[in-house]
Amino acid sequence: MRTTVGIIGAGPAGLLLARLLHTAGIDSVVLESRDRAYVERRQRAGILEQGTVDVLRAAGAAERLDREGLRHDGIELRFDRRRHRVDFPALTGGRSVTVYAQTEVCKDLIALQLKEGGPLLFEAEALAVEDAATDRPRVRFRHGGTDGAVDVLECDYVVGCDGFWGVARAAVPDGRTFERTYPYGWLGILADVAPSHDELVYARHDRGFALLSMRSPSVSRLYLQVPEGTDAETWSDEEIWAELERRFETDDDWRLERGPITQKSVTPMRSYVHEPMRHGRLFLAGDAAHIVPPTGAKGLNLAVGDVVTLARALTHQRQTGSAELLDAYSATCLRRVWQAERFSYDMTTLLHRAPGATPFDDRLQVARLDRIASSRAAETDLAEAYTGFPIG
Ligand SMILES: Cc1cc2nc3c(=O)[nH]c(=O)nc-3n(C[C@H](O)[C@H](O)[C@H](O)COP(=O)(O)OP(=O)(O)OC[C@H]3O[C@@H](n4cnc5c(N)ncnc54)[C@H](O)[C@@H]3O)c2cc1C
Repeated sequence: MRTTVGIIGAGPAGLLLARLLHTAGIDSVVLESRDRAYVERRQRAGILEQGTVDVLRAAGAAERLDREGLRHDGIELRFDRRRHRVDFPALTGGRSVTVYAQTEVCKDLIALQLKEGGPLLFEAEALAVEDAATDRPRVRFRHGGTDGAVDVLECDYVVGCDGFWGVARAAVPDGRTFERTYPYGWLGILADVAPSHDELVYARHDRGFALLSMRSPSVSRLYLQVPEGTDAETWSDEEIWAELERRFETDDDWRLERGPITQKSVTPMRSYVHEPMRHGRLFLAGDAAHIVPPTGAKGLNLAVGDVVTLARALTHQRQTGSAELLDAYSATCLRRVWQAERFSYDMTTLLHRAPGATPFDDRLQVARLDRIASSRAAETDLAEAYTGFPIG
């Protein structure tokens, strides 16, 4: 097989890149190790920055998003049994975010790709990227549909959109990694109950962090900070609801609505950056190059920023013959990545209780939250970062 751009991974990064290249008239092949049902069901992010929504619209992939996405003009910070709303449009000159699950973004992009785009091969696992430093890079892959036979995809460029556990990053020699793990994770549930608040609620509590989010007007997504390595099955549904109620409690009559829990899992927390995001004709995008803890809702949005930058650079190269933007790809993306790393780290340490935290640490966290609640400058800083950093 031969193509211009070989894309490894059909998560949001790989699927959107294929779509952007298709609209620019550049052919690609997407290799995805899992089957379609798995990719479309995998519960992950759900907050789209304004810039991400604009990109999906421009790519013709927002028909359902515009119908079903829930526009949110703010978030609530909850601490010391108090509530403080951060008003995004008022602080950022009109910006907002949209709640639309990653599963739905992927479903929409997969449907478009299969209808209008180039090949998207499921159960096609990339084994290695070869000859990345030459002008003929190749991806060796095993295709489930052909009894596991090993095949080769020859490309002009290869893009590793294969997430944190993929194979592409290993083909970038002499890279540097920057990493921090956190001694806690998130126990996340999906519940068949209308969200108890119409915007996300980020709660700091002496027992740990909690987040109220949503997937639709009838499905709630809720999270609890739990110790690192927790097995979700050790928490009964009753224990989960009781703990959520404690962490969200306020002095007014706000109540958390309970409902049947349909899914529960634990997500570890990690900050990770691999530099550079390029080696020869191999480019890394999304989680293949960087991970943020989910507190800032940045993972999916960073992946979108990377592939928009890369699609522009590949189009520029095609139209002008200049590799200038491709050469700048890694540095351009990393500037935005590090801003997201900073914000995600700040939000995480602002709201989570670290093991061994002292009363002094507790008071400092509350003072930081108080500062956001009482200073327009501090609140604007949060609102600008949450609604998104410019792409490119
Ligand atoms: C459990 C979990 C919960 C999360 N929750 C949030 C959240 O609440 N908010 C937030 O902003 N972000 C969240 N994230 C992060 C967000 O989902 C990611 O940043 C986003 O998925 C990145 O997209 P991606 O396309 O780069 O990578 P991925 O979505 O990981 O996609 C990579 C794709 O590559 C495929 N692949 C891997 N190896 C190979 C191979 N060898 N060959 C072929 N295909 C391969 C994988 O199957 C996958 O489909 C979460 C992540 C996880 C893991």
